[in-house]
Amino acid sequence: MSKRIVLVGAGHAHLHILKNIGALVRLGAEVTVVAQDDFWYSGMATGMLGGLFPPEADHVNVSALVNGTGATLHRGTMIALDRSAREVVLEGGRRIGADLLSLNLGSVPPPLPGMGQSVYAVKPVRSLVELRQRIEEYWRGADTDPLRVAVVGGGVTGIEIAANLRALSDRHGHCMDITVYSRSEPLRRIPRGAAAALLRHLRTANIDVRWPVAVTSIKECGVLLDGGTPQDCDIIINATGLMPPDLTARLGLPVDGDGALIVDRFLRSAGDTSVFAVGDCVAFDGRSLPRAGVYAVRQAPILFANLAAALSGTPPIPFVPQRRFLAIIGLGHRSAVMIRGPVWFKGPPALWLKRWIDQRFVDGYRPGSKTTHHSALNQMSP
Ligand SMILES: Cc1cc2nc3c(=O)[nH]c(=O)nc-3n(C[C@H](O)[C@H](O)[C@H](O)COP(=O)(O)OP(=O)(O)OC[C@H]3O[C@@H](n4cnc5c(N)ncnc54)[C@H](O)[C@@H]3O)c2cc1C
Repeated sequence: MSKRIVLVGAGHAHLHILKNIGALVRLGAEVTVVAQDDFWYSGMATGMLGGLFPPEADHVNVSALVNGTGATLHRGTMIALDRSAREVVLEGGRRIGADLLSLNLGSVPPPLPGMGQSVYAVKPVRSLVELRQRIEEYWRGADTDPLRVAVVGGGVTGIEIAANLRALSDRHGHCMDITVYSRSEPLRRIPRGAAAALLRHLRTANIDVRWPVAVTSIKECGVLLDGGTPQDCDIIINATGLMPPDLTARLGLPVDGDGALIVDRFLRSAGDTSVFAVGDCVAFDGRSLPRAGVYAVRQAPILFANLAAALSGTPPIPFVPQRRFLAIIGLGHRSAVMIRGPVWFKGPPALWLKRWIDQRFVDGYRPGSKTTHHSALNQMSP
């Protein structure tokens, strides 16, 4: 009897599997993909927000990868796992039988208390597409007041988002008041010189970075800061870090303190070797790797090999995470900062390199492309 493989999530880690899904079918598997959305590439997300690319450049059509391969695509959301029946349960009640399951559920920022309709999370990336559309729509309207934007979170993502919002407002010739709120010293996880250069860039771009200031809740017309000070704003961006979605902790599989699925060296759940999990939603071999696409992308070929090994009954191979990776933080259309370990550089060549690497990566998944580049996504996680 053929084995049923179910892949949930069309993220950075599953993209390579989707491109090669026909090979699993040819090995005799009945393969089903559950995808909420198409693939959105986070490496180009801030550049897309800043107007460097149109949204469609940051996007890969999942149907185009799956159609015609013999695998089945379900557009939907997984809400539970029935482990005794070996079934994935989707929103709406549909159940899909799985002998082997692979979970690529990604991550989202922890919700801000009192979240309202004007809060945009930095993930899923689609919400940044909606943010750009909302801003551009406002500028097309009659209102000429400058938009007031609060970016909550002073990590790499919050800073990169703020710089690219300025790039967007410059590109359109509109004013925008941008404030970044950081609970602790901003950019404390990168080399001090690089952090100082980024903060100088923000100051020159007239972006206010306030710290130590915690946003304690979201109000109808702005944010409430610690000490109870209200701050009016039109748009709030949640860039407070990335956590696995709530679902991971509800699957009945071992998770760490963040709710990340604990997997072994072969990317299999510590509680069930027929369940694989990859990317931001896992704690790898008892420790948490940075939530960076770099790891998700590099896990992909190992996952593929191990799914094939599980089908053929051969031994799996281990994933060995790299210790360091190149991070390139885009600052709009002119410059970027690249960092590897303690070494960093700021200037237009860094942006040129980032664009080349990122374009090569997404092009590898366009219909008709024969090559893929696992090391392409190269930046730092927030
Ligand atoms: C603005 C921003 C920029 C970033 N830039 C970089 C960068 O340049 N380089 C880098 O290395 N990292 C970057 N990161 C981090 C990077 O986004 C993540 O590490 C990466 O997305 C992780 O990939 P993944 O495969 O785990 O998940 P994702 O690519 O997020 O995919 C998760 C998938 O799971 C699906 N899903 C979730 N829940 C369900 C469900 N219940 N049912 C069905 N499907 C579900 C989602 O729809 C999504 O398709 C950035 C992050 C942000 C926020």
